[in-house]
Amino acid sequence: MNQKRHLPAVDRVLGQLSELIDVHGRQLVTGCVRAELAAAREGLKHGLPLPEEAALLAAIRRRADELGRANLRPVFNLTGTVLHTNLGRALLAEEAIAAMVAAARAPCALEYDLETGGRGDRDDLVSGLLAELIADGDPNIAATIVNNNAAAVLLTLNALAQGKEAVVSRGELVEIGGAFRVPDVMRRAQVKLVEIGTTNRTHDKDYAEAIGPKTALLMKVHTSNYAVVGFTKAVEEKAIAGIAHAAGLPFVVDLGSGTLCDFAARGLPAEPTPQQALAAGADIVTFSGDKLLGGPQAGLIVGRKDLIAKIKKNPLKRALRVGKTTLAALEATLRLYRDPDRLAERLPTLRLLTRPAEEIAALGGRLQPAVQAALGALATVSVEACSSQIGSGALPVERLPSAALVIRPSAKKPGKTLLTVEAAFRRLPQPVIGYIRDDAYHLDLRCLDHCDEARFVAQLADLQF
Ligand SMILES: *Cc1c(COP(=O)(O)O)cnc(C)c1O
Repeated sequence: MNQKRHLPAVDRVLGQLSELIDVHGRQLVTGCVRAELAAAREGLKHGLPLPEEAALLAAIRRRADELGRANLRPVFNLTGTVLHTNLGRALLAEEAIAAMVAAARAPCALEYDLETGGRGDRDDLVSGLLAELIADGDPNIAATIVNNNAAAVLLTLNALAQGKEAVVSRGELVEIGGAFRVPDVMRRAQVKLVEIGTTNRTHDKDYAEAIGPKTALLMKVHTSNYAVVGFTKAVEEKAIAGIAHAAGLPFVVDLGSGTLCDFAARGLPAEPTPQQALAAGADIVTFSGDKLLGGPQAGLIVGRKDLIAKIKKNPLKRALRVGKTTLAALEATLRLYRDPDRLAERLPTLRLLTRPAEEIAALGGRLQPAVQAALGALATVSVEACSSQIGSGALPVERLPSAALVIRPSAKKPGKTLLTVEAAFRRLPQPVIGYIRDDAYHLDLRCLDHCDEARFVAQLADLQF
């Protein structure tokens, strides 16, 4: 007897899936029914039995749920890297999220002057706020915002030095993750890089001697993701600014992370701020919105008003500008800096970075029994001290004391089990991302917020090894 005849018709199967159709729409579900029926037909050809109706419907539901699920999904970042570029860097403050939603939902005064009814400038939404926070409201300081800090550097160099030379210390010709290399950006900006000094030492006279008729600016790049230690010398910003200004040239500083608050005062490793750079004589500073600032992806260019005006006139600015939701989030984030007392409560990046190790270890103690139960005899789970890093190139050498759930496979050769465990956590509805080190799978709990604790535990029931 030909079993093929017993496969149900597409319409009959669809009739049993009205709830699934409500969720995903008829077109997607029909495609899934067809695909599963085709798979069953293929199975029959190869001697497999006709699938049970319940199994067939379950397979269709699984397929539809998978296709209907967003590609960009929330995960648990338990990698120990707080600003993880591949996991989206900074988490936004609730104030910033609300501002983005409001800007997305209704028309907004993005480039509209509500006083005069005339045309406005989108940079004005944050320019004064940045001058207030970074330069005590100095009226000669302005800002312009682009897509990210790489764009900020590219635009600044092209606007201020196209066809001319920019002087940079060899110790600062860095590559930042994701293919941002200072020499390459220079080339793309059509600026000739003049390298001075050596990898470990650069002196005042190196800057002074490099200045010639084609020099357009002196530049300092925060080395971000690496540190030169030992016999080293870099020239202080103040000294470089002095040399630049004596020659009538601007001094540009690429800060990379650029927090606006005093990290050392909050028990964190010291990080240079745009305030310090401008006070030391920098004419332009650039930094990211989604690193230590704790805002949306953006590149902030702040500095002398005349130079900012020149940068804004460059046609690249139009190509690199940001949209309303980014500006909404950035403005709301910057406003939080007006109230430093409550900043660590409201800004998730700062809250996570300053989280005490004891609090993280206590969280580990609460979670350990549930995770051990989920793993059964496969592995033992313990709470151990570990160290987190800030990430995104900030303070590469510094570590923050933290605590992790450490999962050690019971098997003699743990390699395969480790990969199985790691993959199982990654397949959870809200994927959990940890790291393997020293034959153990680590879940650094620094970035597991209290409000997510119950959700983390509840989905452990879905773990499948
Ligand atoms: C991170 C970084 C960049 C690139 O910034 P994005 O916002 O990722 O484009 C450039 N320069 C320095 C020094 C950095 O640390």
